[in-house]
Amino acid sequence: MPELPEVETTVRGLRPILEGHRIESLDLRRADLRWPFPPDLRQRVTGAVVTGLGRRAKYGLIDTDRGDTMIFHLGMSGHWRIDPAEIGKHDHVVIETDQGRRLALNDHRRFGSLDLVRTDALAAYPPFVKMGPEPLGGDFDGAALAKALDGRAAPIKALLLDQRIVAGLGNIYVCDALNLAQIAPGRAGGQIARARLDRLAVAVKDVLGAAIAAGGSTLRDYVQPDGELGYFSKEWRVYGREGLPCPRCATAIRRRVDSGRSTFFCPKCQR
Ligand code: ZN
Repeated sequence: MPELPEVETTVRGLRPILEGHRIESLDLRRADLRWPFPPDLRQRVTGAVVTGLGRRAKYGLIDTDRGDTMIFHLGMSGHWRIDPAEIGKHDHVVIETDQGRRLALNDHRRFGSLDLVRTDALAAYPPFVKMGPEPLGGDFDGAALAKALDGRAAPIKALLLDQRIVAGLGNIYVCDALNLAQIAPGRAGGQIARARLDRLAVAVKDVLGAAIAAGGSTLRDYVQPDGELGYFSKEWRVYGREGLPCPRCATAIRRRVDSGRSTFFCPKCQR
């Protein structure tokens, strides 16, 4: 499942193909993914020039010179393919640029989405309305965390997965950031000292940044040899490493399951 670093590397991989280029055609090969495509999507995007690409949480943003932004989400299995030799049955959206480059949005499970909103109304896009700060942005720091967690008795791990507190963090990065910051996943959010929250905010940025850098070093311009974007191999600190040594203190990493989700942590150096 694509996490924030996969979405970020996808955006970086799409940028050289789309930015500054005209979309000659946009072919919707079905009516929907997780929900229907906007009825006027094709008409509003065809002939538009892409002015920039960005990301909000796990959503990719493609701005056009018509004041619109295409918003894509990769769901569980989505990815873009660059210049595919053939269009397959899971390529649901196909874009062609003025340079003859071709991009296909492939999503066999169809939990992804593609929307179009006015760029100046992006903040009102329903998934963005209550969304907290970007973890890699300047407004996410120990002070912001202290404010958001004040008085909260819920476990810090659950709070970091709450998109209203910080946007776009998934289970893997929360487990790894808590290990890096030496904070136990079950600790009440409101009871963590400010200095440790400073360290936690830095740890979140570090684990995400390291994963994005891994994508940049494993892939060529963020693209796999077969032209697929977004997926690459990484090494986790604790995630998926039950019984293996903690990278800091070498104690065996433990796994705990609550509400169907695994938490990986070091029982010794995370307090
Ligand atoms: Zn440890």
